[in-house]
Amino acid sequence: MRRTTARFATLVIAVQLFAAFPAATAAADDDPFAEARADMVRAVAETTEETAEWLGKTALAPKVMEAMGRVPRHLFVPPDLEDMGYLNRPLPIGYGQTISQPYIVALMTDLLEPEPGDVAFELGTGSSYQAAVLAELVAEVYTVEIVPPLAESAAERLETLGYDNVTVRAGDGYFGWPEHAPFDIIVVTAAASHVPPPLIAQLKPGGRMVIPVGSPFLTQHLLLVEKREDGSVTSRQILPVIFVPLTGGH
Ligand code: SAH
Repeated sequence: MRRTTARFATLVIAVQLFAAFPAATAAADDDPFAEARADMVRAVAETTEETAEWLGKTALAPKVMEAMGRVPRHLFVPPDLEDMGYLNRPLPIGYGQTISQPYIVALMTDLLEPEPGDVAFELGTGSSYQAAVLAELVAEVYTVEIVPPLAESAAERLETLGYDNVTVRAGDGYFGWPEHAPFDIIVVTAAASHVPPPLIAQLKPGGRMVIPVGSPFLTQHLLLVEKREDGSVTSRQILPVIFVPLTGGH
């Protein structure tokens, strides 16, 4: 009888403690980067407002901003840059490559209008940060990286973090991934001189592709390419950007 009372008392204390500390506080205690990540999301919102004229809107989709608030970007940058992981800027990830600026990742994701059942293709896995953000919002992500050690470390990282709906392959993404096509969404994260025809072919009617197009190190524009239900393709320039160049033997 005594034992039961003691247990009951513990339960009451636990309930009171839980009530005193709302979920947000508990999460912040567990994750020393939670505040920095929230600051990053605010910085993305500010840059979106600053570029509203290009985008034709002042804010990105709330579900995209929420995904940005969930993915632990500090774990996608080299360990010695962890403290810079939530700055709203690109960072080097080795092999002359970069993890994109959070604002650009958020904007590209927003332009793709991801839906829960979508299957996505990414050219340029890099750190796999963009793939992880997409994976929060769609059913499957297939991503190809041309630098084998980057592909390998990305696959390991995604597995450790539990992103089991992302598949990484080392290879030339110019040719897409025909075995998993057609795709609702295609995102290219390296600057191309033109929209790769294999990717247009692998885009589902009704699908959307976002791709930086232009000369490496000179002017590039982020393009939104849409394939209509009748198979016709339209494209629209969104804003000037800077990406590492697309490489490979195509
Ligand atoms: N999405 C990445 C950004 C990486 S930068 C991220 O979130 O971190 C672009 C990446 O594209 C680089 O890692 C580069 O090696 C890769 N890349 C360039 N040309 C490629 C090609 N033809 N096929 C696949 N990956 C390519």
